[in-house]
Amino acid sequence: MADDCIFCKIVAGELPAEVVDQDEHTVSFMDINPWTRGHALVIPRKHSRNLFEIDDDDLAHVAAAAKRLALRARERLGCDGVNLLNSAEPAAWQTVFHFHVHVIPRYEDDPLRLPGAPQQVDQDELRAVAKELR
Ligand code: 5GP
Ligand code: ZN
Repeated sequence: MADDCIFCKIVAGELPAEVVDQDEHTVSFMDINPWTRGHALVIPRKHSRNLFEIDDDDLAHVAAAAKRLALRARERLGCDGVNLLNSAEPAAWQTVFHFHVHVIPRYEDDPLRLPGAPQQVDQDELRAVAKELR
């Protein structure tokens, strides 16, 4: 458990949360400020800051729990789709520094919109960045 981590406190039962699913490695609970009806967060019980730090096993456990919740949201809430969202570091919008995946049920008529616009780039730029990533 990390000092002053609100999600560690939720895992420990020291802060209240509307828990909807848990297993040996993960806890899932309602986001306190939901983007849509049923918006939940899946976290590993073991603290890690974000994607750069989480170990592969915990990441796999979180992914499995997120899938479980997505299927349940479709069955119980009747959502039309689901977004999984994860943010790593403030530059990518992370605000709580205990790894979490947002499971966001989507409805055909909901108000969410894509946060970015696809850019046009030329082939040389794509090739150059691909070379850096290989
Ligand atoms: P991030 O911005 O790091 O991707 O996501 C953090 C999420 O945690 C936000 O959607 C925010 O609403 C949620 N959140 C922050 N504090 C609490 C809390 O004390 N309880 C719950 N259930 N959710 C929280
Ligand atoms: Zn934590």
